[in-house]
Amino acid sequence: MATQRDRRFLIAALLLSCFTVASPVIAQHISLRVQVGDRITSVNGFDRSGVAYVSVRDFAAALSYPWVNNAERRKIELRLPNHRVKATARNPFLVITDVATSTSSVVQLQESILFLDSLYYAPASEFIAVLERLAPSGVLLTAESRVIAREPAVTASRFDITGVGIETRSNGYLLTIKATRKLGYFDTILRNGWLYVTVDAAEADTVALSKFKTNDIIRKIVVFQYPASVQLTFQVSPDIAQADPVVDTQTDNLLLALHTKSSMDKAEAERRAREAKQDSLRDKLQVQRGRAKLDVIVIDAGHGGKDPGTIGVTGTREKDVALGVALKLGKLIEENLKDVKVVYTRSNDTFIELYQRGRIANDANGKLFISIHCNSTERKPSPANGFEIYLLRPGKTQNAIDIAAKENQAIEFEDNKDRYEELTEEFFILLTMRQSAYMKYSELFAEKASAIMADRLKIQNSGVKQAGFYVLVGASMPNVLVETGYLSNRKEEKVLHSIEGQKKIAEALFEGVRQYKVAYEERLQEGQVDESQKN
Ligand SMILES: [Zn+2]
Repeated sequence: MATQRDRRFLIAALLLSCFTVASPVIAQHISLRVQVGDRITSVNGFDRSGVAYVSVRDFAAALSYPWVNNAERRKIELRLPNHRVKATARNPFLVITDVATSTSSVVQLQESILFLDSLYYAPASEFIAVLERLAPSGVLLTAESRVIAREPAVTASRFDITGVGIETRSNGYLLTIKATRKLGYFDTILRNGWLYVTVDAAEADTVALSKFKTNDIIRKIVVFQYPASVQLTFQVSPDIAQADPVVDTQTDNLLLALHTKSSMDKAEAERRAREAKQDSLRDKLQVQRGRAKLDVIVIDAGHGGKDPGTIGVTGTREKDVALGVALKLGKLIEENLKDVKVVYTRSNDTFIELYQRGRIANDANGKLFISIHCNSTERKPSPANGFEIYLLRPGKTQNAIDIAAKENQAIEFEDNKDRYEELTEEFFILLTMRQSAYMKYSELFAEKASAIMADRLKIQNSGVKQAGFYVLVGASMPNVLVETGYLSNRKEEKVLHSIEGQKKIAEALFEGVRQYKVAYEERLQEGQVDESQKN
């Protein structure tokens, strides 16, 4: 850190010069002039639909940052003095790793990284904004850099959320999320030093938010923009014990009172929580009325068609057991829970790609996703037995990692494997954030189902585990993967193969669904979406 000021790049000024083409074409070649000290370098780029793109490699070279290209994985990594910035072809996320602490964060660009003729192109203005933030203090990218973005000026009305601010208050801090209109349904969760704020039907100005100067209270901001919602994720000081949301009716801003452990007076906090609840209760209840019902359950029978799944000792195919249990579970739900619609990802012996399963679930507006599978060991027959219920998180044990690897092999049957992100730790940073809103409900279902299965099936309960399954990645709803038993175990294969055995498993899962439905609807009707108020 101490040598930053000695660096020879005292000023890196970026100027745009554009070789305009007379006729309007889709992609115009442009050249960016990067000035480092008194050395001027030309960087290639182009303009596509009004967005200026810059070659990541050339830009790194102009700033004298080393870069590493992983052609196979289509990733390029820039090595800044204190950070690594990794970009992936056709992916809008930049993964930024702090070299000193090895911690990673994610920035979402509004446009994906383009990959043309084996070169990576980043949307210039956003990419430069990121590098500006990360550059050591001796390096200055001047304001002129902004002229490279030749997009029309962003008007305030285009985005619903335009910024974030933090102020000190007598008993903590006030986090302001600046809104340009009255926001709809929102949800806040404070957990393990992270504050998740999800706002439905809102679009955030990610560029403006990325310019927020982090401090000891707000240490990191990661924005996830989805088609139907936005999630603002704040890494907050561990001293923050409670976050109470209030809508400022004058400005439409969303205010979060952050109470520190040290200053929090319990009674005062409760009073504020009550106030905050009352303020937004009417809005919330209105929205919740529509979503407080567990009305669609998606049942996913694993494998199918050309993918048989694992094969039992005497030849039982996982795909057949999974379908048998899935159809029986669906029938029980349809017969006993009249207000629930059952959607199957497959209801016969067909091959469905893993990403399609999540898509089917999302299109159906599912409120719970259950993926049904059978386990097996490498060596068969073997005594390993029992069921397991998995949540989507990085695998914690070698065994969990192995099982996920086995189930993920299903993509070997697919034509386009490129669509799947590698399940690396950094990808899980994204995933767990994306799933965090559903995790407590996924856990709730997993716990209920696992207790009932252990009780009724009289088989070993290996408990609720976590591992990285592709099939769960795409489902934007509470989701679990059930390994119903081991086909590599002679006794268990017999049970799994039999209609009677499949019926028992389906009945146990159904009871889990039934109990979960009651708990889920109770929680939502009580307005317990706001977990921060329980902390
Ligand atoms: Zn499977």
